[in-house]
Amino acid sequence: MTYKMYLLGAVLLALPTIGMADEEQAKMYALAIHGGAGRPPAAGERRQGREAVLSEVLTEGKARLARGEASLDVVEFVVRQLEDSPFFNAGKGAVMNSAGNIQLDASIMDGRDRSGGAVGGVHTVRNPISLARRVMTDTAHVLLVTDGAELFADECEGIERVPNTYFATEYQRKKLLRVQAKRKDMEPIESRGTVGCVALDLAGNMAAATSTGGLVNKRFGRLGDTPILTAGTYADNETCAVSCTGTGEDFIRNAVAFDVAARMRYRGDSLEEAAKSILVDKDRTVRGGLIAVDAKGNVTLPFNSAGMARAAADARGLWVVEVGE
Ligand code: ASP
Repeated sequence: MTYKMYLLGAVLLALPTIGMADEEQAKMYALAIHGGAGRPPAAGERRQGREAVLSEVLTEGKARLARGEASLDVVEFVVRQLEDSPFFNAGKGAVMNSAGNIQLDASIMDGRDRSGGAVGGVHTVRNPISLARRVMTDTAHVLLVTDGAELFADECEGIERVPNTYFATEYQRKKLLRVQAKRKDMEPIESRGTVGCVALDLAGNMAAATSTGGLVNKRFGRLGDTPILTAGTYADNETCAVSCTGTGEDFIRNAVAFDVAARMRYRGDSLEEAAKSILVDKDRTVRGGLIAVDAKGNVTLPFNSAGMARAAADARGLWVVEVGE
């Protein structure tokens, strides 16, 4: 065998491996969901309800990714389902502010070009995540808040409106009264139940979405990290997609969602190292957790709170649904 023939043989042998690796990569998709950081609810209806809803949306979200749906559509879909569920602090079932009203925040980001949209303090929009997406696609802006966001919703076809009382639940009313009996002003307390979703699709695109009612007994007009891209939500195809939950003020001060991507990009951290190192850093206070996915389909779900409702699935068979510690 001549040297040239040997070389040709070696190349031909190598080809299927390269092809398979590419194919495998091309078949990769991954999805992670959170249902809020904080002390988990005791065993009972609420805990079971959360578990059932998370399993349901994980199943549907996974199926959508498997059949080639875009990550941006999937994260919006998942968050809409969780906004409609009374078991989470987003949309129906959201926490109440100090005035006993419900003000909702949401954001969404597209890793393809880092475009994003967000709304803060909306009070008649059934699915704030969909209005956030419209801010991204239909305006030159990134964030619209309160009356301006409501006016924008008036202009958008297909954005369902509801009276503020639609979001209210007896569970959250009692919680507000309990908190108000103990505290005069808003202190950062665990809210339990903010929702978020990150995904990598078959085309290699990532997206992130987060939605919340914020913190119980928050001051009227307070915004947390959820509507702030780089704090509560971030997505960039070059690194990762991230959705955070916890004491929003901590996540804003530390630009947590962006910091996960920055640690990967500038320091070469793996997804897991990047995410974990922020939450265990003694020099910064970041109370809560996050979910993140990277371009290879790695998923991480770290938290330093007592618990975090979370779920994840991927093309390789990963399947996690946890509502407790
Ligand atoms: N981060 C949210 C906020 O501060 C609350 C949460 O995640 O539970 O508004």
